[in-house]
Amino acid sequence: MKRKNTKQIIAGNLKIGGDAPISVQTMTNIPIDDIDENIELIHRLHNAGAELVRLAVKDEKAVESFGIIKKNVDIPLCADIHFDHKLAIAAIKTGADKIRINPGNIKSQEQVKEIISTAKEYKIPIRIGVNGGSIDRKKYEHPTPQALLESASEHIQILEDNNFTDIVVSIKTSDLNDTIQANMLFSEKYDYPLHIGLTEAGFGNSCIVQSSIVIGTLLYNGIGNTIRVSMTGDPIQEVKIGREILKSMGLLEWGTKIISCPTCGRTDPRFDVLKTAEEVKTRCDELHLNKSLKLAIMGCEVNGPGEASDADYGLAGGHDGYVLLFAKGKKIRKVLIEESVDALMEMLSIAIYE
Ligand code: SF4
Repeated sequence: MKRKNTKQIIAGNLKIGGDAPISVQTMTNIPIDDIDENIELIHRLHNAGAELVRLAVKDEKAVESFGIIKKNVDIPLCADIHFDHKLAIAAIKTGADKIRINPGNIKSQEQVKEIISTAKEYKIPIRIGVNGGSIDRKKYEHPTPQALLESASEHIQILEDNNFTDIVVSIKTSDLNDTIQANMLFSEKYDYPLHIGLTEAGFGNSCIVQSSIVIGTLLYNGIGNTIRVSMTGDPIQEVKIGREILKSMGLLEWGTKIISCPTCGRTDPRFDVLKTAEEVKTRCDELHLNKSLKLAIMGCEVNGPGEASDADYGLAGGHDGYVLLFAKGKKIRKVLIEESVDALMEMLSIAIYE
């Protein structure tokens, strides 16, 4: 999968675009003035693998809160601002590593110039966020891919007219096909980095499937530099799903990938494949491995080790209360079912230090 060449922008210590790895970002979902709760949430998001967190900044008090939060976390923060140039300027001055604002929504040219000159002074990139609601409804009845591209172009033009090119763009709708096509059209025309994802993607399985299709399709075509899975609910899940998408596509170079079989009549009912796989995943997540490893949890020892022969380590359901511990398809030893996860984790801790 060949990545499209784009310009690189820098938000705090995070590079986006160019040869930078694809990053995972998210947004807090609690009021910004709950400062302690935000700090705690951002720490958890960071631990889960978020590389940038966005917060909605809607008034002057929010700018103050943003500044305090920024001083207490160790991850780039983006301030999300609508319409108000004073808030944008204040957010930059208070420590934002990036701001999201659409210059076409700012009242006057003078105000846009003020934002740009502050962003330049503080070396802060600007994210233009185009979505279905931001297109000109007088010209376009629906947010077609062409309409979305045109809207992005208008915002970009304003920044370029002011010699500002530290830009990252997102073009999102809640429609899979329109979002994919709009991002493809954009990447044919521009070399600005793209923040990709679906907006208003819903919740649960439907959100996971749709977001994976959009992000996966674009990444497969070399498009996209930073991703966000927008999900109603816990933002930690957004980060975990985002990382799973990157892992699945071989774009995340560290962490554990767990494969497991669907089970069938060959599975010894005493070996609960799902429960075992979930427990292994939880314990691996807690380890924050900095090494790529593939683990397999398979339902039988007849086909399991063979089908998962590319896994570094695995367990295959056996009989008489035992399962097989294997590595690269080769048997290591039999272990009791209730001791199997511990045995696998022991192999893992040896592998980490190899
Ligand atoms: Fe069935 Fe064994 Fe294949 Fe799992 S690995 S699906 S238990 S044959």
